[in-house]
Amino acid sequence: MKLCRFNDNRLGLVEGDRVKDVTAALDVLPAAHYPLPTHDLLIAHLPEVRAAVEKLSAGASSLALADCKLLSPVANPGKIVAAPVNYKKHLIEAQTDPELHHQNQIAEIQRVGLFLKATSSLIGASQGIVVRHPDRRTDHEIELVAIIGTKANKVSREDAMKHIAGYCIGLDITVRGPEERSLRKSIDTYSVMGPYMVTADEVKNPDNLAFELTVNGETRQKANTNDLIIGIADLIVFASAYYTLMPGDLLMTGTPEGVGPIKPGDVIDARIDQLGAIKVQVS
Ligand code: MN
Repeated sequence: MKLCRFNDNRLGLVEGDRVKDVTAALDVLPAAHYPLPTHDLLIAHLPEVRAAVEKLSAGASSLALADCKLLSPVANPGKIVAAPVNYKKHLIEAQTDPELHHQNQIAEIQRVGLFLKATSSLIGASQGIVVRHPDRRTDHEIELVAIIGTKANKVSREDAMKHIAGYCIGLDITVRGPEERSLRKSIDTYSVMGPYMVTADEVKNPDNLAFELTVNGETRQKANTNDLIIGIADLIVFASAYYTLMPGDLLMTGTPEGVGPIKPGDVIDARIDQLGAIKVQVS
């Protein structure tokens, strides 16, 4: 199932190039009271939501996907977990290019571990990236994102994939410089998710997905998730060895070689096999 969040927080069932409005399915969610949960309510109740979506589908009105303002498919992730330098060729490019490494030690992911991006940086594809420091180099990074479906604490490799609710495309927008990654990558609008969530049952082999990112039509990044240094299952093992992953947490799996600068006026197109495509304006 492909689920999107669109326009004024409506829930959509994506079928081809059409979106069925199934917002009423959100009525199955429990009322939230203060203090709010530290997970995403929709993802935590995905099985019930899916059942409700299936019931509503036949009678739902539909509109063109192209006409929808797409928001992040997950509204309230508790964490955005991200993997640095998780593709071999990107590790080499980051170690060789002073504009990328800025005298930071770029070590292998096994040594540096994972980092977190602020959830306030999260947007959907239609909301657009706003460059905050135009005087500094700001880069695109396309990444496969796994959406955690169920609480995962110290999970084994064997159980890891069972904790995934679905997948989407992610952009990890990055200011280059000497500061910590969490600062440079947490700027408002610098975590783009979209176009929708594809539930895990529909993604045949997430460890073998081709993907591509273009800027103004020019190909910048083109790779396959089969080149990940630490694959999806092992990233979940790694992350959950340190903190409990919660429903709706977003796991950005890392970017391949070809990272490059963006500037106001650019248009980013990104696509991942089986997960659709996003078009993102930069201003
Ligand atoms: Mn990244």
